[in-house]
Amino acid sequence: MIVPESSKYTKELTKLFEASENILLISHINPDGDAIGSQLALYHYLKSVGRSAEMMAPNNLQEFLKWMDGAELINVYIKHRERCRELIDKADLIVMLDFNQPNRLGEAEKYVLASKAKKVVIDHHLNPEKFSDILISDPTACSTCELLYRIVTDLNGKPFISKPYAAALYVGIVTDTGNFEHGNYSGDTFRIVADLLETGIDKGTIQNLIYNNFSADRMRLMGYALNQKMVILPEFQTAYICLSKSDLDAFHYAKGDTEGFVNMPLSIDGIVFSVLFVEKDRFVKLSFRSKGTFPVNEFASRFFNGGGHLNASGGEYPDTLDNTVTYFLKVLKENFVDLNKIS
Ligand code: 5GP
Ligand code: MN
Repeated sequence: MIVPESSKYTKELTKLFEASENILLISHINPDGDAIGSQLALYHYLKSVGRSAEMMAPNNLQEFLKWMDGAELINVYIKHRERCRELIDKADLIVMLDFNQPNRLGEAEKYVLASKAKKVVIDHHLNPEKFSDILISDPTACSTCELLYRIVTDLNGKPFISKPYAAALYVGIVTDTGNFEHGNYSGDTFRIVADLLETGIDKGTIQNLIYNNFSADRMRLMGYALNQKMVILPEFQTAYICLSKSDLDAFHYAKGDTEGFVNMPLSIDGIVFSVLFVEKDRFVKLSFRSKGTFPVNEFASRFFNGGGHLNASGGEYPDTLDNTVTYFLKVLKENFVDLNKIS
């Protein structure tokens, strides 16, 4: 059940937060700014009302998020499995943020699903799966942070004013809209951002920490990807970039370095669909972006065990890079016209 107006859960959430001794907040695998932002924002709010909470992420945070207030308190499952399993075991309330499919919990999935804790999902992706007691899902929100702002404002009876909270929400909103370039941002988003900025957070510094914080190697990798690796298929209004492990090694790849590459081909006139392939250990990670009505979430879920938003999704394929590209080209050719029929 998709529930756009979150306020009907205010009472229930208030009760749950008051009654639960061990609250665990979980973000998704490969957590992005919105996942970590919403997790930390809820943490800061709960702390301010005297509720302590633990935090967990399935895997490591990217460098550009590590400066965030409280980020050091997030337990990374693949680094501290035992400690994380203890947290899951003893939790009586688990709040999951910015995802709506249990496989986004990575290795922690089976432990979280088996836990007796009450489970709440707060999310803004399309097509939520039912694996929680409460699902607060608003795909019209530009980010989970925007939705969480509304939830916390309801819980608090008025906007909650705190700089670490505001900075965390601001990071989620800025990153999920690509600096207010895409996604479902609205007039409401800007009203919320106005409130966040009025707490006195330093938007210039935050901007630099998020976007002007890359290595020279990353910049060179981006140049290489665009110059040498971008393939354009004009007949399918599609462009793709394929990066192998050795490509990444040559530029001393660090986690997060390929972030944003997939958006770039969309700035080419006539390209409506862009794909980035990144070779991992036993699979290939894919990122999909589109402009207009080409539904990349549908493409990701039908062919690459993934999902996301209409214009920004991801998935993976358990094969070599070459085989993945071959499979991609096959399904693109078979389905492009069908998927692109409205645009
Ligand atoms: P990105 O391409 O930046 O990794 O992800 C874009 C969007 O797709 C994000 O909203 C992210 O949550 C979603 N996404 C990325 N990878 C996956 C995946 O493997 N499965 C699902 N369900 N969503 C994904
Ligand atoms: Mn999000």
